[in-house]
Order: sequence, then C-alpha cells, then structure tokens
Amino acid sequence: QRLVSMDEEPEEKMIEAALRPKSLDDFVGQHRVRQQLSLVLEASRMRGRSADHVLLSGPPGLGKTTLAMIIAAEMDAPLRITSGPAIQHSGDLAAILSSLTPGEVLFLDEIHRMSRPAEEMLYMAMEDFRVDIVVGKGAGATSIPLELPPFTLVGATTRAGLLPGPLRDRFGFTGHLEFYSVTELESVIRRSAGLMELSISPAGFTEIAGRSRGTPRIANRLLRRVRDWALVNGINRIDATSAATALDMYEVDERGLDRLDRAVLEALINKFGGGPVGLSTLAIAVGEETETVETVAEPYLVREGLIGRTPRGRVALPAAWQHLGLAAPELP
Ligand code: ATP
Repeated sequence: QRLVSMDEEPEEKMIEAALRPKSLDDFVGQHRVRQQLSLVLEASRMRGRSADHVLLSGPPGLGKTTLAMIIAAEMDAPLRITSGPAIQHSGDLAAILSSLTPGEVLFLDEIHRMSRPAEEMLYMAMEDFRVDIVVGKGAGATSIPLELPPFTLVGATTRAGLLPGPLRDRFGFTGHLEFYSVTELESVIRRSAGLMELSISPAGFTEIAGRSRGTPRIANRLLRRVRDWALVNGINRIDATSAATALDMYEVDERGLDRLDRAVLEALINKFGGGPVGLSTLAIAVGEETETVETVAEPYLVREGLIGRTPRGRVALPAAWQHLGLAAPELP
C-alpha cells in the first residue's frame, strides 16, 4: 500500500476516526473557511433554519469529510454520508432524499462524479426541497411531485471547476481548502500524538510535518508509521533523527515525496526529456491511473514548484532536476 495514498485499511480507519476533530475550534488551520463557515452556521441557528448548502473543494485528505461531520454536530443534526459514484440513477438519489429527516445534513463526496439525471434532480431538491418522481415509461409516464424536508447538502469535490455552473450556483457557501503549512501540520500531529500518548520532541514534530505534503491525513499516517518504528526499536521519545530514519525507511523523502512522486519526476525527465508530455502518457509511463496522478501526485508537485502545467502538457521545472540530483539543462 502506498504510504501517501488516500485509501485506508480498516484498522487505520478506526484510528483515523478517533483523531478526527469534533468541533470547529478543534479543527486546525483553514482560518478563512472556518471563520466563514462558523458565521453561516451561527446565522442559521439564530434563524432556526437548516444551514445553507455548502460546497467544499480541495485535494484529498485536507478535511472535507471532517468538516461535514462538524457542520452536522454544530447544527445538532444527523449526518448521512454518500458519494457521487454511488448515485448512478436518479432513483438512488430520490430514495436518499425522501428518507432524510428534517434538518439532516447530507454529505455527498465526489459530487462531480454523479450521473447527469441525478444531478438534475439535485438542482430542484436543493432549491425547492422537492423532486419529481417519474413513474412509468413512454407516453403513459407521469411525474409525481414529492415534498422533501429541509436539509443541508454538503458537497465535496477535488476541484470546484469540475462542477457544472448551475450546480455550483445552488450552493450558498463555497469553501476552498488549501494545503496546510508545516506549522499547522505540527499542530495536527501534536494533537494526534497527545491522543495516542506518544512522546515526541518539537524537532520530531517538525520533521514529520515537513514530510506530510501539506495534508493532515498523511501527517497522521506518517505519525503512525513513526510510532511503529519507535515501538519496534524500543525508542520512548521520538526526536528528529528517529522520525527521519523511520520515514526514510518508508521511502518518504525530506520533501514528502514518495515513490510515485519520484517515479513521475523520473519519467518526465528521463523518458520525456523534461516534457512537455500529456498527463495520460505520463500516467501510463509510471503504471498508474490518470486520476491518481492528477489528483494525488500532481497538485503537490505543482505546488512545490517541481513540475509545471502548460497547454502542451506537463514539464519538469529546474527544482525537479535538482531534487533528483541531476543538473538542469541550460535554457536555449
Ligand atoms: P477525502 O476527500 O479524500 O475523503 P477529506 O478532505 O474528506 O478527504 P478527511 O477525511 O476529512 O479528508 O480528513 C482526513 C484526516 O485528517 C481526518 O481523519 C482527520 O483526522 C485529519 N484532519 C483533517 N483536517 C484536519 C484539521 N484541520 N485538523 C486536524 N485534523 C485534521
């Protein structure tokens, strides 16, 4: 399993759940989104209404699911979780919507992957709390209107740009989650280490945070791997050296790049002379799905200034050559 992948093992899922912040105050970083969201929730509570629909966008593992849970908790409302790929037919969506209780929060992950008919049904549900259910086929088909209880939709997507305009417009609030700074990740790790009763030096926190590629989920996962390493090696207090040794062993380098990231850089430089090369060609070269390279590896490599996106494809930037210990070619 890829150490920085986004899939969790069942046991890891349980630990993840325990580490999830339960309130906005516990949620580290994302100051602007937190402040704005807090206002939206406070106002709806004062009006005694369910909160406006919320759209959260950003790379995986930055806390979209966590925020949906917090919204439900702060509104004292139950939470229902589903995802775009699980809704293939509009009937699937109608079944979920019609079984919501008043005020319930519906979290729809990967909302951009919902089918078109379901998406159209969602427009009306979000705006008028009503859906039309079509019964029968052809000339004899009739549509039966169905009233829905007021609910709050929390949609999550890796990129808001993937959503059709009419759907985006129906959200009262859109929050874009950014990668976390090293200082913020230190706080996430400190909090988790406290809950896991681990002793770590301040430099140890910094070492793990610096390798977490701006992502709390990865920070928590690296922390668990460092914990395993310390346990097996009989180390009671984790410092920077032990954290670095452990993570080197798991092939997560000092910049947070793992094997896939380095494979992408190596392919780009060694096979395609630094590019430009199309994303799908690059994905084939490293034996990964295009979507994995696009949503998991690329955003961080771009943010780190290692690769660039051009209309003709991806290119390696000088920092990428440097990172692999190679000399960047002279510019013509
Ligand atoms: P995906 O879209 O891939 O499901 P996500 O953006 O929904 O990802 P979460 O599942 O909410 O990500 O967060 C991943 C883990 O990171 C959580 O279990 C939580 O422990 C931790 N986490 C996320 N955001 C924060 C935060 N701001 N403060 C502390 N911990 C956080």
